[in-house]
Amino acid sequence: MDYDVIIVGAGASGMVAGIAAAREGVSVLIIEQKEKAGKKILATGNGKCNFTNKYQTPDCYRSDDSTFPMKVLSNFDNSLTLQFFEKLGILPRDREGYIYPNSEQAASVVGVLLMECERLNISIKLKEKVVEVREPDFTVDTLDSDNRKSTYRGKVLILAAGGCASPKLGSDGSGYVLAKAFGHKIINPLPALVSLKSPDKFCKNVSGVRTGAKVSLFADSKLLSMEEGEIIFTDYGISGIPIMQISRFASKALIQGKSVYLRLDLLLQNTISELVDIIKKRCNNNPNKTVEEMMVGMLNHKLNYIIIKETKLNGESPCHLLKESDIIKLVKKIKEFTVRIYETNTFDFAQVTAGGVSTLEINSYTMESKIKKGLYLAGELIDVDGTCGGYNLQWAWSTGYISGSNAGKYIANK
Ligand SMILES: Cc1cc2nc3c(=O)[nH]c(=O)nc-3n(C[C@H](O)[C@H](O)[C@H](O)COP(=O)(O)OP(=O)(O)OC[C@H]3O[C@@H](n4cnc5c(N)ncnc54)[C@H](O)[C@@H]3O)c2cc1C
Repeated sequence: MDYDVIIVGAGASGMVAGIAAAREGVSVLIIEQKEKAGKKILATGNGKCNFTNKYQTPDCYRSDDSTFPMKVLSNFDNSLTLQFFEKLGILPRDREGYIYPNSEQAASVVGVLLMECERLNISIKLKEKVVEVREPDFTVDTLDSDNRKSTYRGKVLILAAGGCASPKLGSDGSGYVLAKAFGHKIINPLPALVSLKSPDKFCKNVSGVRTGAKVSLFADSKLLSMEEGEIIFTDYGISGIPIMQISRFASKALIQGKSVYLRLDLLLQNTISELVDIIKKRCNNNPNKTVEEMMVGMLNHKLNYIIIKETKLNGESPCHLLKESDIIKLVKKIKEFTVRIYETNTFDFAQVTAGGVSTLEINSYTMESKIKKGLYLAGELIDVDGTCGGYNLQWAWSTGYISGSNAGKYIANK
């Protein structure tokens, strides 16, 4: 069957691309390999869908070309996104800048997108995987779950197939194969917004402990990134929002074979010298308490235990025996606690992909490929990943809208 616009993927970017194209008066087909559209959207924000953020700065988006994301976002930004969704029926709820639907149900977001697709007569083929795109342009071959082949023909094609993160929700990396076949360069896709694995045995002993920390990520002794917030130790390593935020830099450094470790400041509110004074005072006030007893109330007791052990002090000896140098060692462990990292968690647990189609080959005003006329790209498939806070969906909505409306205009002007 022939369509003006064919879109690969009925995720966040694909559905918005379809709506924007159809509003230009062209016929649209969206092909989706899963049994329903928008599966990943349903999982976002713990099912509540943090769909954008009031605060947009360049450091919320990461890419090999750091200027590309803001160039794109200036053509369809967060306020246009809010207007788009409000017109569809989504009442926003602002939680300190993080925007959710007031229903706090991701299903409402998918619901309004599907209603608009229906109103605009957009065809959505489910349970069909695009396996090849060939000439004459754009001839699209699909296979269903019984290996039955179908073929569709589009005047333009939008690749909105997502990355590799959370493949059970649909994005299995097949979009890269399709983009590569057109000659696009793929920046190595790696897990991002993901927890980190450590070979350090103490992680198991403190598994489940949550604490506030400043996290500094180092690779070959070079500081790569810093974040603050609540971290969680797990039996395999470390997790929590600050860990997820820095994970894409860890991913890149690990793949380059660098030695990666975290330095945790576990007592943010005090400087090293303040903490030395605090510990001295605690020892003076209760000189007969053991070192372990003296530490009670400073940090989680499991962390206190690990810190004393890692400092190689005897936790059972009276604290009045601590020398100045012992106290400094103890304080340094608290302020500069090192966790070695050997791996990130896998794509199965990652919220997003770092890497993807190189932005150097995409027009930032239209999202059209610079390699192939009539081919557009959108969403996580591209080498842009956002930080936690609604930025990855914002990227999907913006690139979806821009690619769809430009694809529609391209047909209308042909
Ligand atoms: C658990 C989780 C929570 C998240 N929470 C948030 C959040 O709160 N806020 C936020 O901003 N971001 C969040 N994200 C990230 C965000 O969901 C994604 O970045 C975004 O959905 C990407 O949109 P996309 O359209 O590019 O790709 P996807 O949503 O992955 O859609 C791609 C679609 O293409 C289909 N497809 C792929 N290949 C083919 C093919 N060959 N043929 C046919 N169909 C194909 C897939 O099945 C899929 O439906 C979260 C991600 C996860 C995993």
